[in-house]
Amino acid sequence: MPHCEAVIAHPQQLIGLALDTCSTCAHPWPVGVCPLCAPGPMAPPAEAAGHPAADADVETALLRALRMTPPLLILRGGECLLRHNALDLLTACRQSGVGRVEVWTAGPLLARPQFARTIARAGATDVGAVLFGDTAEGHDYVAGAAGHFQRVLAGVQRARAAGLGVRLLVPVLRPTYRGLVGVVRKAIPAGVQGLHLWTPPGPDRDAHPLLAPLPMAAPYVQAAVQLARTAGLDVRTEGLPACQLGPHAGLAVATLPAISAGPAQSGALPHAFGPPCAACSWQGRCAGLPQAHIDAHGWVGVAARNDPAQLTNLPQRVGG
Ligand code: SF4
Repeated sequence: MPHCEAVIAHPQQLIGLALDTCSTCAHPWPVGVCPLCAPGPMAPPAEAAGHPAADADVETALLRALRMTPPLLILRGGECLLRHNALDLLTACRQSGVGRVEVWTAGPLLARPQFARTIARAGATDVGAVLFGDTAEGHDYVAGAAGHFQRVLAGVQRARAAGLGVRLLVPVLRPTYRGLVGVVRKAIPAGVQGLHLWTPPGPDRDAHPLLAPLPMAAPYVQAAVQLARTAGLDVRTEGLPACQLGPHAGLAVATLPAISAGPAQSGALPHAFGPPCAACSWQGRCAGLPQAHIDAHGWVGVAARNDPAQLTNLPQRVGG
């Protein structure tokens, strides 16, 4: 019987609470590169994949999350908007008085007539939509579906028209990381207000060719963050250590604890701190690196920082 386990103890600055709904994923994407199904360090173990949580478990987990009165609650974990009780979950959020409710989806669902308005009326204030790259070629290559890029953009447009705040969920991947600045350039005129850059912990069986070595991707990540912040976008990062974020290292100390509707989790961060970290002034604030990433790429390019660890900013309201 699955049950919920809150993971709250963490030395870093908390920016909200994520509820991993462990919903069915409708997409044929490699599991390890999709932020919907492998969102963070507290993601359910691999053996739980393919066993979506029962409605009762999701509702129990949601009640636990709402009792914590987080300033921001994120519903994620598969396509949770396809759950038959999705609107009930959003209504419960609205009635509880949670200020912001951000629900994650691949994006095309939002393009359906009235869909965005319906979830906004139910209780969603913001949505997160997945963009794998800044071009149709790059995005559709990872998504494995021609035309997917345009459907995501159409969903973003409909969500904005419905008054929802929109955040792009962007994995840092080998085929597309050079286009991260291009993603931000597309986001700004589209009315997107938030960016969530995520380094997949992978590799899994299919994802390895898609994982980017962090030191190679870091300059592109930093340039994208710089442009996004200059344009006033609310930027979050996940899975990116402070030493890869340059002047934006403070983003690495803001984190999202998670409650899962799936099997209990240990609460132990699966991130690693290797030899370079021993002398680093940010250890204890930085999230470290996913162990699987180290297994794939080693500690090349990871270097101790010697500046004082600090929080450069906290994400602000996305919607509006
Ligand atoms: S050296 Fe280690 S602790 Fe320091 S910023 Fe990099 S990953 Fe984090």
